[in-house]
Amino acid sequence: MTRPYLLAATDSEPAKRFYDVIVIGSGIAGLTAAVGAARKWKVALISKSVLRDTTTFLAQGGIAAALSDQDSPQLHFEDTIRAGAGLCKEEAVNILVNEGPSRVRELTEICPRFDRAGGDLVLGAEGAHTVPRIAHAGGDATGSEVASALAQALETGSRVQVLEHEFVVDLLTNGGHCIGAISLNLKTGAFTLNFATATVLATGGSGQVYSLTTNPRVATGDGMAMAYRAGATIGDMEFVQFHPTGLYSGESPIFLITEALRGEGAYLLNHLGERFMVGVHPQAELGPRDVVVKEMVRQTQESGQEFIYLDATHLGCTMLKERFPTVYERLQEKGYDLCHDRIPVAPVCHYMMGGVVTDIWGRTTLPGLYASGEVACTGVHGANRLASNSLLEGLVFSDRIVRDLDKYISSMEEEVRRLHIDLPGPAREGNRAEDVAEGLKRLRKTMTANVGTVRNEEGLVRALNDLRDLHNSLKSPGADADEYELYNLLTVAIHIVKAALLRQESRGAHLREDFPEPDDENWKHHINFRLKSEERAAK
Ligand SMILES: Cc1cc2nc3c(=O)[nH]c(=O)nc-3n(C[C@H](O)[C@H](O)[C@H](O)COP(=O)(O)OP(=O)(O)OC[C@H]3O[C@@H](n4cnc5c(N)ncnc54)[C@H](O)[C@@H]3O)c2cc1C
Repeated sequence: MTRPYLLAATDSEPAKRFYDVIVIGSGIAGLTAAVGAARKWKVALISKSVLRDTTTFLAQGGIAAALSDQDSPQLHFEDTIRAGAGLCKEEAVNILVNEGPSRVRELTEICPRFDRAGGDLVLGAEGAHTVPRIAHAGGDATGSEVASALAQALETGSRVQVLEHEFVVDLLTNGGHCIGAISLNLKTGAFTLNFATATVLATGGSGQVYSLTTNPRVATGDGMAMAYRAGATIGDMEFVQFHPTGLYSGESPIFLITEALRGEGAYLLNHLGERFMVGVHPQAELGPRDVVVKEMVRQTQESGQEFIYLDATHLGCTMLKERFPTVYERLQEKGYDLCHDRIPVAPVCHYMMGGVVTDIWGRTTLPGLYASGEVACTGVHGANRLASNSLLEGLVFSDRIVRDLDKYISSMEEEVRRLHIDLPGPAREGNRAEDVAEGLKRLRKTMTANVGTVRNEEGLVRALNDLRDLHNSLKSPGADADEYELYNLLTVAIHIVKAALLRQESRGAHLREDFPEPDDENWKHHINFRLKSEERAAK
């Protein structure tokens, strides 16, 4: 079912570019990797949109790291492991929490707008953290502040070649190594073969697989799908995190109301005005996201309403406006006053714990291919990510990739420019734009209806059949980014559903109403997928 290359043979010979390293994606993971790698290597950073069109740019709450006297990497480790519901890879978590504080301090040196009081970083509280440890910038504008600072470092202080509006279609492989990627220039329609000794995937998540998500339009799972097509292992795909407090509005991307608001004391209320999380978890509203979402689903089922309320009215208007300027303004635009109104919220698709499986150096199972950030599955999040650990993951593991690149590139004897690539046929057919749009709608509808916060076998089987039908109804893709994205979303969706069907238990973000309890005896392990080489060759 999966095609090893989306691209078919082109009419004319594509142009070629040669680099030591290409980085695909311009979020925190890609920018960190590109700036670091360019100190030694010839680097290109490729983005299918403009530099700032990323999930990173939208991040509000901040970055978690043990930065205060009352905190320690050990405490951060314990909180991360507890939230991960038995599936975190401890070695990776150890690295995250121990290297995290230095990486965040380095970031604060180039990003002056981290919030401070008397010279010290102000640290916020968030769900399932036992102490305040979230560094934030511009109040609730951490992502845009950090992304802008990193983009400035890239543009002014490094020699990275930045290629915007360049859609990476497929990875190039030769002799079991990744040797770069094929891209489509979205302005000229020209394809280019970008050869590189090492390739870093930093393409972010796949929230667009659902009808309603906090993720931006670019989060279409391209990196996961292209890595899978190229023969890399993907894993933990069933673990999709739903965030408890998406603004209930029906328009995607859904505006997220940061967990830091609950960190400052905001309540979750049901339709009777009761704080329903009290007694459900010792940290009440600040329990882990999966626990809060599960209870929200129960409350909405009981009340027959599709949302519950977030209430910050008791926290004081001055603090709310100062600490959460973005949330305050965006809510005002939508007709809500954070100081005086209860805000309707509902769980919404937010983050992908699964992705391209890596080791502790960001190396995937395909030599020459690294992955960092949300596209990667380093194992630090297990079955449920601890809030504000994802920006940190991108920082820490991209730094490790940069360190490993030196070893990898030096060890490669073959020059990629001498390698020959056979692009696959047959000639492209292409789908009509309206069929692609309709296919996308159908995919999201079936995922939302059957593979959301609470799952069961009947719904999952229905979704799998529907996705397969949709796949079979499509012609092979032409030279169009929307088509490529639909194919990539299909690959991601099918693997989410397959893994969710296989995992007959409830764990972390994966809730099965037909298997409501965790089953350590049978399921305390990861589910991985890899396209076999025979299957790749046969296509
Ligand atoms: C609203 C919101 C708030 C959040 N708040 C926080 C928070 O406070 N703290 C926290 O830790 N996490 C937060 N998260 C999660 C976090 O922001 C993301 O997990 C993280 O930013 C992902 O970074 P990244 O570098 O992996 O990818 P992204 O920032 O998503 O960047 C992906 C890049 O890849 C490019 N790309 C994708 N496909 C292709 C392709 N085919 N060809 C070329 N380029 C491609 C995109 O154009 C983009 O440049 C939040 C997420 C959301 C949605």
